[in-house]
Amino acid sequence: MKEKFIKALESNNLGEMRKIPKGDLHNHSSIGGNKRYIEEWAGVSIPKPPNFKGLDDMQQWYRQNIKLLIKGTLGYEKLIEAAFVQAKMDGVKVLNMSFGIGEVVWYDNSVDNMVQALKRIHQSFAPEVLFIPEIALSSFTPIDEINKKLNQFLGQNYFKSIDMYGDEFAVPTFKKIFRKAKEKGLILKAHVGEFGTAELIREAVEELELDQVQHGIAAANSQSVMRWLCDNKIQLNVCPTSNILLSRVESYKVHPIRKLYDNGIKVTINTDDMLIFDQSVSQEFFNLYNAGLFNGNELNEIRENSLNLIRENR
Ligand SMILES: [Zn+2]
Repeated sequence: MKEKFIKALESNNLGEMRKIPKGDLHNHSSIGGNKRYIEEWAGVSIPKPPNFKGLDDMQQWYRQNIKLLIKGTLGYEKLIEAAFVQAKMDGVKVLNMSFGIGEVVWYDNSVDNMVQALKRIHQSFAPEVLFIPEIALSSFTPIDEINKKLNQFLGQNYFKSIDMYGDEFAVPTFKKIFRKAKEKGLILKAHVGEFGTAELIREAVEELELDQVQHGIAAANSQSVMRWLCDNKIQLNVCPTSNILLSRVESYKVHPIRKLYDNGIKVTINTDDMLIFDQSVSQEFFNLYNAGLFNGNELNEIRENSLNLIRENR
């Protein structure tokens, strides 16, 4: 497979690249789907996103350009469908995709009904994709509400990982919640080092006992944090285009994933919010290769990281 992967890169052949097995371990489901699939369904064209000043700016753009098109449970399910369709089309064999606990509102607050729907959509649109369902917690949701809903989500024994996102400084308030998820055997992840510092990444990994970090690119600013992440085998699930469009990184050419890789950190390449950023895992490999950031061998090693990970954690 390595030879085929490198050949696809060298010949800039997207069709061949799509046939190579890949993982997507950082995907926000309802905004992680194929843009054209949603455009066709909604009968509109979604504009190309600008460079955002930050998350608020992106969310505002999303509300104005995409959210308006999506209505009710059927709309929500179409978004999830678009994410499975996208993964299948792109040769994603391992899809670790997250679902906000608030999304249960589309199922009259029945987590059971939500899980049944996810199973049905997975089986209908991408049964061959190994799907690792993930619980997503926002730091802006009151802790009491999280605790109440989380018990219902964990009680399903369906979700295999958990992720938190929002304010990177809110990490300590999630300590108990993450211990509970750990007892249940979930893979622990959090969004840190996207906007915050290298030190915050280390603190989050220690406090929450994380297995993986979503983004974590700020680690590249600290030799000691990189060393620590490497020694503790913490994987960073990086999303290059997301970092560029959210103005965290200037270009693919100077993306810190190179430095993280050179410092022995296990990294993977992922999509984050494909409905907005519109770059698949395959395209991200081309983005980094064509910018001269990695050679084919290195990118293949990174590709295999996404596939190995699941074997280790199952
Ligand atoms: Zn993310």
